[in-house]
Amino acid sequence: MTDKFNAFIISEIDGVREASLVQLTEADLPDEEILIKVSYSGLNYKDGLAICGKGIVRRFPMVGGIDLVGSVIDGGQSEYVTGDKIIVNGWGLSEVHWGGFSQKQRLHPDWLVRMPSGFAEHETMAIGTAGYTAMLCVMELEEQGVKPDDGKILVTGAAGGVGSVAIALLSGLGYQIVASTGRQQTHDYLRFLGATDFISRNELSETGKPFQKERWVGAIDTVGSTTLANVLAQTQYGGVVTCCGLVGGADLPASVLPFILRNVRLIGVDSVMAPKERRQQAWDRLESDLDRGKLTQLTTIEPMSELFRLGPKIIEGKTRGRVVIDVNQ
Ligand code: NDP
Repeated sequence: MTDKFNAFIISEIDGVREASLVQLTEADLPDEEILIKVSYSGLNYKDGLAICGKGIVRRFPMVGGIDLVGSVIDGGQSEYVTGDKIIVNGWGLSEVHWGGFSQKQRLHPDWLVRMPSGFAEHETMAIGTAGYTAMLCVMELEEQGVKPDDGKILVTGAAGGVGSVAIALLSGLGYQIVASTGRQQTHDYLRFLGATDFISRNELSETGKPFQKERWVGAIDTVGSTTLANVLAQTQYGGVVTCCGLVGGADLPASVLPFILRNVRLIGVDSVMAPKERRQQAWDRLESDLDRGKLTQLTTIEPMSELFRLGPKIIEGKTRGRVVIDVNQ
């Protein structure tokens, strides 16, 4: 049948979650207004969790993929017309709404952002939720008044998706970057992206004093837990730390001392429910500020069938940079 297409779904049977590649028809898709031909999705930490049956998915069966880029087949009554290129990041895709690991999808118009014309489709998924979140973090540092001449910026989980794009962005803006990584073999790669100093992941993950020597004026933290506590304890007077991730744990065993004695600010960053104007602003900035050569170097492209292997890999912190999923390969 010609109207069948491929999708990667997560099912739950008798409490056991299972991922599989299946064939769907348009009649199987959710009752949303806009029909999309999906070109690419991407692999994010959350996708790894979904593939491995750990949390995030709240309805079954679920088509995975928190991101997608594609073109409108039928825009319904919305402002979108056939052929428009669109991006979706988050909005509950792969959690409560069917997501991007599918050759077709039906979506609500409110979730769509027009694809910036300066990007090729696969580049927008090379950025994906991870890269767009990195941009949100950089924007927060800027808005809080952190300037390149003020001091160094620490990026934790440096060789991952958020970390890699954050380093490429910060370097392009003239910031000096300290990369925290658990993989020494990524130093050349991180140096290429723009990091100049390195700190071992272990140095930050062990419990430290609540108040330590000042080392950076800003930080983009993707790790959380003890690492974030140490990051705060080593932030300079008046510095700013953005917190977007929890690969090291969801707890925060920290002291109030950096806040009350050094005027340190901790800024939370959420990409999933960020308002549309904020998303558009972030994508416009990515279009103008992200070095395309660096983006290419931090990206690999894989078919949907590789998701079974890549899901566990990203959860173990073994992927580097960003992985784009070509849903039509
Ligand atoms: P990746 O897996 O691509 O990167 C995470 C990196 O963290 C790894 O590559 C590794 O880098 C490091 N790492 C892995 N495990 C540990 C550990 N146990 N302790 C310390 N460091 C570790 O994930 P993403 O970059 O896509 O996402 C990072 C985090 O940000 C995730 O928690 C994700 O859920 C969150 N996130 C949040 C968003 C939001 O809206 N708030 C949006 C996007 C992501 P290295 O080897 O260099 O140390």
